[in-house]
This record gives sequence, structure tokens and C-alpha cells, in this order.
Amino acid sequence: MHTDLVAALDIGGTKIAGALVDGRGSILVRAQRATPAQEDGDTVMRAVEEVLGDLAGSPLWGRATALGIGSAGPVDASAGTVSPVNVPGWRDYPLVERARAAAGGLPVELIGDGVAITAAEHWQGAARGHDNALCMVVSTGVGGGLVLDGRLHPGPTGNAGHIGHISVDLDGDPCPCGSRGCVERIASGPNIARRALENGWRPGPDGDASAAAVAAAARVGDPVALASFERAARALAAGIAATATLVEIDIAVIGGGVGKAGDVLLEPLRKALGDYATLSFVRRLTVAPAQMGTDAGLVGAAAAALAGRTAPTTAAGV
Ligand SMILES: [Zn+2]
Repeated sequence: MHTDLVAALDIGGTKIAGALVDGRGSILVRAQRATPAQEDGDTVMRAVEEVLGDLAGSPLWGRATALGIGSAGPVDASAGTVSPVNVPGWRDYPLVERARAAAGGLPVELIGDGVAITAAEHWQGAARGHDNALCMVVSTGVGGGLVLDGRLHPGPTGNAGHIGHISVDLDGDPCPCGSRGCVERIASGPNIARRALENGWRPGPDGDASAAAVAAAARVGDPVALASFERAARALAAGIAATATLVEIDIAVIGGGVGKAGDVLLEPLRKALGDYATLSFVRRLTVAPAQMGTDAGLVGAAAAALAGRTAPTTAAGV
């Protein structure tokens, strides 16, 4: 009997995606439900169980040897619990125990969503072949994860690499996390849009006031839009430089919706890195756009299940 597959879950505030994934990272079976994010915890769990039930209906299910879960955070991998900010019904919710029961007793690996995306980029994407990498998701929030010495580094609770809540502005605006001047408070999509609006940028006739609309305005030279992206780029650069100086990463991979802004973000980011990443051992640090698409969370959760959280992600058959 083949036992070369794993099940994977990617749990976010909008949707719960599931898949059966083979040892090369190919997705063979998919399932999905909307996240009933405002319902009570057990109702949210029922949506997870439905996704697992759909996967278990596949004739391939019997070949699955483990279940990997990448979840919106914070997660606590050591306790097997999750407390996603945008799913209020889940506070210290025993997701691992419930998911193991729903998956017929399969062993479960839980990691944060930023760590999952990092595992995917290291396995198959822009960080492939890099032993020391920071992978970031810049969208509604700013998350991330670390690869150190060739291994995924989730940390004891599965949250390591959470660069969005490094402070880069000591006296900056309060952040919902309780700190102030966090990277996320400056560089997330909603904050890029907010700052542009505060400084006089106005959306076009379609009324789109998202960061993507600010990026479009920046691309045609709108100075306020350009300035908002430059400020976000400087915050990201300061956070990346701090990370590189601490642990000697050689690549920072930028994904997420804001990452899709491309050179509007990456050009000022690379320039700002020249200001902040100054010591000899961080000067060769490169910045690259993410390569994994919307399946990154699933593929990364699968990598964690295949390799085990503390084993090299490259042990997953690559
Ligand atoms: Zn914060």
C-alpha cells in the first residue's frame, strides 16, 4: 500500500481550504468551506470537519499518513491550540485534538500561517536552495516565517518570524497588538491606503480606496501614493535589516496582496535596505517576490506534515 500522501489544512478568517498532497507537493484532491468566523468555536470547527470529511471521501484518503495545519495566528503548537485574531470564537481552542479525532487519528502538525507559507517558499518557491531566509506575507496584516540553517524555524509555539509586530518606530502609532510603531501598522495594505487618504490621495471614479488602487496611482506617478508605498517600504526594510543582522538571512521573500504591487514596493524597499542593512555580513541580502500562489498555505502545511516541524523542509522529498 502506498503511504506517500498527507492531508493539509489552511485555516484563515475567510476560508478553510483542505487538500491531499503528494510527496512532490502536488495537490491531488481539494475541499473548501467558508469560515463562519463570527460564529461560536464549535460551529467553526464543524466547517473544518466538513472539509476533512470531503477529503476522507476520496479513495486516496487511505494513503494519507499525517495532517498538516497552517492556521491564522496566534497559534500555540506546543499546546495544540489556536487563537486567531479574526476568529473570536477560537481562543485557546484545542484544534489539534479535534482535528486528529476528525481525521481518524492521523498525527497532526500545527504551524502558523506565516510559517506555512515560508515552508512552501523554501520547498518549492523563491527561497528554494536558501538555508537562511525570511519569508513575508504583506497583505491585510504582515506575517512571516524563518528558515535557519536549512530548516524551517517555527519556534516553540509555531509563531517565530512574526515580523509584522517588530517595532520600527519607537514613538509610532499604537498597534492593535498592544505595541506601537509596528511594521504592520505602517506597511499593511489598509495602512498604506489609510496614509494615502490622510495625505490627500483620492480614489478614482470607481471609488476603490484599497492599497491596490494606491499602487495603481503610484505606478502612474501620483506623489502621495508613491510616498505611502515608500514609507511602507522603509518599515519593511528596517524590519528585514533587523532580522538579517540578528540571524544572518541572505534572502527576504515578499508575498501577499501588497507584495503584488511589484516594483512600486520592491524598488524603494531595495533602496531602503541600503540605508538599514549596512554591516558587511548583511549587505548581500537580496529581496525577491514570492513564487507560490494561493496554494502556498496548503503546500506549506503539507511540507510540515511530511517533514515534521523540526526536520528540514528539504526532507520532504526534494
Ligand atoms: Zn503590533
